[in-house]
Amino acid sequence: MTFDVLIKGGRIYDGSGLPSYLGDVGVSGGRVVEVGRLNGNARRTINADGLAVAPGFIDFHTHLDAQLLWDPIATSSCWHGVTTVIPGNCGLALAPCRPEDRENVLGTFVRVEAMPLPLLKETVSWEWTTFPEYLDRLRGRLGVNTASLMGHCALRQFVMGEESSERAATDSEIEQMKRILREGIGGGAIGFSTNQNPVHMRADGRPIPSRLATDDEILELGSVLGELNRGSIQISQGTLGISIPAEQGIQFFERLAVRSGRPVIWQSIAHRWSHPDLYLRLLEGAQASLSKGVPSYPLCNARLFNNRFTLNNAQVFDDLPSWKEIMFKGRDVKTELLRDPQIRRRLRYEAVEDKRPSRFSRRWDLVYLIKSALEKNRHLEGKSVAEIARMQQRDVIDVFLDLSLEEGLETEFQTSSTNGDEEAVAEILRSPFTLVGQSDAGAHLIYDAGYGYATRFLGYWIRERKIMSLEEGIRKLTFMVASIFGLHDRGLIRPGMAADLVLFDPQEVRECEPEMVNDLPGGERRLIQKALGVKMTLVNGEVLTENGEHTGTLPGQVLGNRKRLDAIAP
Ligand SMILES: [Zn+2]
Repeated sequence: MTFDVLIKGGRIYDGSGLPSYLGDVGVSGGRVVEVGRLNGNARRTINADGLAVAPGFIDFHTHLDAQLLWDPIATSSCWHGVTTVIPGNCGLALAPCRPEDRENVLGTFVRVEAMPLPLLKETVSWEWTTFPEYLDRLRGRLGVNTASLMGHCALRQFVMGEESSERAATDSEIEQMKRILREGIGGGAIGFSTNQNPVHMRADGRPIPSRLATDDEILELGSVLGELNRGSIQISQGTLGISIPAEQGIQFFERLAVRSGRPVIWQSIAHRWSHPDLYLRLLEGAQASLSKGVPSYPLCNARLFNNRFTLNNAQVFDDLPSWKEIMFKGRDVKTELLRDPQIRRRLRYEAVEDKRPSRFSRRWDLVYLIKSALEKNRHLEGKSVAEIARMQQRDVIDVFLDLSLEEGLETEFQTSSTNGDEEAVAEILRSPFTLVGQSDAGAHLIYDAGYGYATRFLGYWIRERKIMSLEEGIRKLTFMVASIFGLHDRGLIRPGMAADLVLFDPQEVRECEPEMVNDLPGGERRLIQKALGVKMTLVNGEVLTENGEHTGTLPGQVLGNRKRLDAIAP
């Protein structure tokens, strides 16, 4: 047999979690056709000696809706082994949309996902009104596969206009939404997303429309997916256990999954220093749903949420009253107060000795000096404050404050309020039912780059920390995601499956530090993030990236099967 592509001699991690094995993968017509020891000819033979061969990763939490219009390969996701992206999360989407609602629909992305309105206006071409028309715009012009959720905000705006961000929907409006959702799923949407996060606003400060939905409206919309027996539901209601009671949230997700009979993906489980045991309650809650047979899955992240700060702009100490008071003073007063030994005693009590939970971890071994202002302190960069204190045999608070004072409060530090407790994060990631990945790819352009969740998971958590086998880690990034989102011909390396593949070096793979570039349309800035060790990705049997470079092909497809649904739709 002559293959289009023959990948020889790699170690195959097939996505199922079964032990990996040495073998070859034969690809033809965009599909894996044979796996094992293969000797056929091929138009291209790829030597995968020493590399892991895995199904391409599926980034299920992105906000690439707009970016895909001008960046069909979805940088930086494609550099991390991602071959399929799922936009339309958190209730946000670009369709359906009438011409008069365009600015409001774009406005939902601006505050929630920190995307500049001028950029969105310039790049969103509005060649569509309905959801299927939006998918048609993407079709044939994609490097990565795209499977889209239909966002509740756009749907509500479409049916209710401006009143969508003011009030509950009437029964007849809910009926209209259900009809349009049904058409959207029929037209290729892979599910529905909704968002009741109480802090999520439009650009003009009004609530995003999905926040005004009653539980009934959400359940009714979920029932459409149940009727069709298709699609998944992504939901965020804010920070569980903080903005709403954890049990209340988990119970509602369960009701939604029971009413619809469809998988619910809820946001999210993380470790928080302010509520250090909350993640355990959330894990237990998720386990309880699943043990009843209810398909309700939490998502989680393999990354730290870092705060970079100097003592000129620090917000990390805002839970500690004396610190907070001083942080609001002008530079001169602040400097004087921070030198005062009496005041330092209070600061030390609050930031070291006090045991009450706060957003600041009090873990000075996790507060890193990232950038010194003075040349003479450069050798301290990368060290934690605790480490410096140990080296100098001094008190941590004295070391921290004296360094900052010496540098005119310009010393840059980094710490994290979320996911900073590694034991807790390991436990969350290790849970067999947490979905790993919350990249928010395409969002928070200049604040945060989460593209590298998969390479971080593989490099840091699996290779260095050894929290699970590579087989199990790959299962979590591929087959598990494909199954929960209904992408049934992806996520496994088996004959007949789509040939979405990633070849990487397990000894080398990891994420790089984000870097700021000016490559957006109009020269706007954004953070990108590259990876090490990802040698190649194939999308539908064609090589998309090789050593981090785009090959120029656009083999991506819009996933979500229109035709099969036509046969079963009412
Ligand atoms: Zn999101």
